[in-house]
Amino acid sequence: MALYGIYGHHTTEACPWNNVQSAKLLKSLAEGDVEATAKGHGINKILGQYHSALEHTFLWVVDADDPHGIQAFCVATGVASINDLKIVPLITFQEGVIDGIKKIHGL
Ligand SMILES: [Zn+2]
Repeated sequence: MALYGIYGHHTTEACPWNNVQSAKLLKSLAEGDVEATAKGHGINKILGQYHSALEHTFLWVVDADDPHGIQAFCVATGVASINDLKIVPLITFQEGVIDGIKKIHGL
């Protein structure tokens, strides 16, 4: 299991609340089998999809084999066509803080 965050941002002009083409694209994605599309690109599971509507930002958390598969998923679904994206490896609080403190400081 490898966790990644897909951090996205779009302009107000590209926002699905303001742009009918973006709205149609995302509605189609939501109504399709996004899990199957994700699996086809090496994403084992979409763990969360969080959005900040008025900041026009989002964070999706996925378990994936390879970040290049996530990139291909974002292109294939059109998510990359309306958003700037960052694909960032993530670790849990346990791994990052608790285990990290123990490893670094011996605490
Ligand atoms: Zn928006």
